[in-house]
Amino acid sequence: MGCLSACSTSGPWAASSSRDGLTLVPPGGAAQAVLREMWFGSPAIWTPPPISNTDIQFFDVSGSTQAELIASFKKAALCDTHKCLPDPAVPTGGTAWALEGMESGTWSTPYCYSPKTTTLLFRTYILLPLWSPVPVGGVTITLVEKWNALEQVLYTHEAGHVAITVEDLAALNDQAHLSPSCTALFAFWSNPAVFDKLNADQNAYHARLRADCRPAVGCIPPGWLGW
Ligand SMILES: [Zn+2]
Repeated sequence: MGCLSACSTSGPWAASSSRDGLTLVPPGGAAQAVLREMWFGSPAIWTPPPISNTDIQFFDVSGSTQAELIASFKKAALCDTHKCLPDPAVPTGGTAWALEGMESGTWSTPYCYSPKTTTLLFRTYILLPLWSPVPVGGVTITLVEKWNALEQVLYTHEAGHVAITVEDLAALNDQAHLSPSCTALFAFWSNPAVFDKLNADQNAYHARLRADCRPAVGCIPPGWLGW
């Protein structure tokens, strides 16, 4: 099954070129201010809560500044290694920062005794970035806070995709159960167009988010927190 791209963040990369790195300052009050800004493990890096029937997978990004993290996302090129759903409303060239998808399905029974009881079982997965800075003061607390905010938006966004997948697959199973025969049921599921509505619903979700783009609903407004 294909995976579905996150709202590709189409913000201009140049806008994210500010450096969060520590600058050398003479000893005194300013040095203490810098020290206060250094991250020694608190706040903790946010970890996503589990989602039912969904695997949470990670890909690594690295960097000690926001600009380096953004470059790391670009380098990860998720859509080069995963099949991303083309979204006609998003210009190509954007970078996906997280993904949602379906893992290959299995049948509820090893043999189709009746189409009414033969259900396609599936798991979903989401793929989120994993950043593992070492808590020895090499990154700023501000950057960790920005990261945590980003990760939560990405999680919210992909959890929204999962909900759509679960709902649409349930509807497809309902429809398949009405097939007149097992042969018809297998033909139903092997039709490439069977997932057209799911794909359209995922794109419609993106369109809804773009129309009212807020972090709370899983959308990153352009330039938000420098991401
Ligand atoms: Zn998306």
